[in-house]
Amino acid sequence: MTRDTRIAIIGGGIVGLTTAYYLKQAGFENITIFDEGTGQATKAAAGIISPWLSKRRNKRWYELAKLGAKLYPEIVATAQLTSAAYRQNGTIVTRREANKLTELYELAMERLKTTPAMQQIELLSASEINKRLPGVRITDDGIFVAGGAQIDGTAFLYELTAFLDVNIVHQQVKLTPDGQIIGEANFDRLILATGAWLAQTITPLGLTATVRPQKGQLINYQTSPLPHDTPVLMPEGEYDYLPSNQGVIVGASHEDAQGFDLTIDQTIVNDLMVSAHKINPALGNEQLANVRVGTRAYTPDFAPFFGQLPGYAHIYVASGLGSSGLTTGPAIAKLLAELFINPNLNISEYTKPVTDYIH
Ligand SMILES: Cc1cc2nc3c(=O)[nH]c(=O)nc-3n(C[C@H](O)[C@H](O)[C@H](O)COP(=O)(O)OP(=O)(O)OC[C@H]3O[C@@H](n4cnc5c(N)ncnc54)[C@H](O)[C@@H]3O)c2cc1C
Repeated sequence: MTRDTRIAIIGGGIVGLTTAYYLKQAGFENITIFDEGTGQATKAAAGIISPWLSKRRNKRWYELAKLGAKLYPEIVATAQLTSAAYRQNGTIVTRREANKLTELYELAMERLKTTPAMQQIELLSASEINKRLPGVRITDDGIFVAGGAQIDGTAFLYELTAFLDVNIVHQQVKLTPDGQIIGEANFDRLILATGAWLAQTITPLGLTATVRPQKGQLINYQTSPLPHDTPVLMPEGEYDYLPSNQGVIVGASHEDAQGFDLTIDQTIVNDLMVSAHKINPALGNEQLANVRVGTRAYTPDFAPFFGQLPGYAHIYVASGLGSSGLTTGPAIAKLLAELFINPNLNISEYTKPVTDYIH
């Protein structure tokens, strides 16, 4: 492979774009991204990057999430992304019961020992939390993780695309049975970063993927500008509450039975607004600016996967990033780019074999 190796990436979400970033960093110059874009999860997402307090037992997922959170500051510095794309203002997680908060605090302190990216942990009373978030009136205490961050998917992709200076073709593409793109000259390598749409993408190859779509909705309020250091709030029993470039985001829903449907569901929106109002009673319905809807990709074991496509040495694939794909995405991208250069790289610490998900 040389810098002129013709590479196509299908999918321009977080996986596609950050894979292009790492391939460019490794010296590959001839990259074309094809992105249809409708329902893309990355642009719809809340964008919370704070995986360290999760109780998920999946060790591979945790390694990816930890690595992803650590990589963001490097990408942001290299590509000179602005605070509209990425902010590291910390995250606050609350618990209703004192003993649960103590448990969470102990977990955080334990993980901090081996995870410098968490930076610092603080116990906060409800009134201290309310002081840090204008308008918020919660009654539970919580903990603050200083390394927690937030990305705006749309701004992040826009700014990273400008830095990468890659060719993005905004159209849906289909594969030929031998793994090329219909209507395009042959590529030397293909990366399928098609999120929830992976199963459809590989149908022409005679393959099936156990990836299913999940609908997610969140609401965006227009408010007067929040202080630039406002943290993300993850209140127990309510939706997450985040500062945004326009005001405040509240979300997100998880709807399993809706397939690829992208229509706004008023019942869900009402539910989100009730939660928003409980967290910040000053938010008025007239401030609701828009509703974002996107489609997440889930595997049967809720784990992301990536690697070489069985039977196709020139095709690589990543999907199943679920509800934490903005966090794991850059880690998957970095490892995919490394695998590209060294197909024998051992990635079993991060993913089960692709054959567990694709047949
Ligand atoms: C409402 C919501 C809130 C979320 N909040 C968070 C959060 O707070 N933190 C977090 O870490 N994660 C969050 N996520 C999850 C995260 O957004 C996803 O896991 C991640 O963005 C998936 O990235 P991806 O690149 O795999 O897929 P996507 O971002 O979906 O990108 C796939 C792209 O491929 C394109 N495509 C597919 N097939 C083709 C084709 N044949 N030709 C051309 N283009 C094609 C699609 O149009 C799409 O643009 C959230 C998701 C949603 C929906």
